[in-house]
Amino acid sequence: MSAPVLRVDELVKHYPVPSGPFGERSVVHALDGVSLSLGEKETFAVVGESGCGKTTLARCLVRLVEPTSGSIRLAGRNVTRPSRTERREIPRLIQIVFQDPYASLNPRRTIAQSVADPLRLHARGSRAERQDKVADLLHSVGLRPELMPRYPHELSGGQRQRVAIARALAVGPRVIVCDEPVSALDVSVQAQVINLLKRLQLEHGLSYLFITHDLRLVQNIADAVAVMYLGEIVELAPMRSFRARIKHPYSQALFSATPRADPERASDRRRIVLSGDVPSPIAPPRGCRFHTRCPYRQEICETAAPELRVVADRLVRCHFADDPEFPPEPTTAPEQH
Ligand code: SF4
Repeated sequence: MSAPVLRVDELVKHYPVPSGPFGERSVVHALDGVSLSLGEKETFAVVGESGCGKTTLARCLVRLVEPTSGSIRLAGRNVTRPSRTERREIPRLIQIVFQDPYASLNPRRTIAQSVADPLRLHARGSRAERQDKVADLLHSVGLRPELMPRYPHELSGGQRQRVAIARALAVGPRVIVCDEPVSALDVSVQAQVINLLKRLQLEHGLSYLFITHDLRLVQNIADAVAVMYLGEIVELAPMRSFRARIKHPYSQALFSATPRADPERASDRRRIVLSGDVPSPIAPPRGCRFHTRCPYRQEICETAAPELRVVADRLVRCHFADDPEFPPEPTTAPEQH
């Protein structure tokens, strides 16, 4: 692995919420001690069901949300509690591309204005130079300069997402957080945008943190993957090892729904359907947070919380992960209903 351009240590985000008629307060455990690192020019995917904390993680990284504790380092600089000056520097290091490009672009600003905004805010070049730079950026994402005077509603969904990507590139960030960047697009356009992101990664030396629930996409683009459940990472592995063997029962259930590329092996795998919903992040279960839905739970799982620890080539949060036969392959596991 190359030197990390992004390093997150023990990141916590708790939201206090009212919980009773007499001013009682509860805490939503959105993130609980998340650590990861992203190398230069690498793609790291964070996956999990809705409410697992992956979007909160993305928002903490680009400082749309203040973390409760923990640390974030970008290009070697600690940006956890930035001063006012440092806060202005952060967008030069990290940018975000959101799921819905229509919502992330100002409908009253032309495409040229939207892409030029970061350049203007960071005082890059004269007005004429910024216009030239906008044309270059649009060209690099496959859009014609004739679109510059248009408004977002005049563009297709794929074109709008390309504009959002061009805007994210404007000030030359090292890291781009891609928060479900293709899930709002037509299937035919999704592959084009993913190929564009791959090309831009090579051309600009970018590192990507992909937040997604699209497990096929993860297998195609990621160098490493972290699976999150109720605010915690339960498995973190290089993608090659993860493809070969999944070690956490939750990851196994999540990925059992993904079609296999190899048709010979596609039919020999059963989908694991977990029972119940994800528990409330206001009161995560005692012991292992996954025990209320885990097909392999034992008594210890209800009382003792497993640590995220090294098991061979990865990190796993499960009491039984040292057993090489655990969890059984889905072909032999009983289907859960
Ligand atoms: Fe399942 Fe127990 Fe492992 Fe948690 S610790 S994933 S409940 S087997």
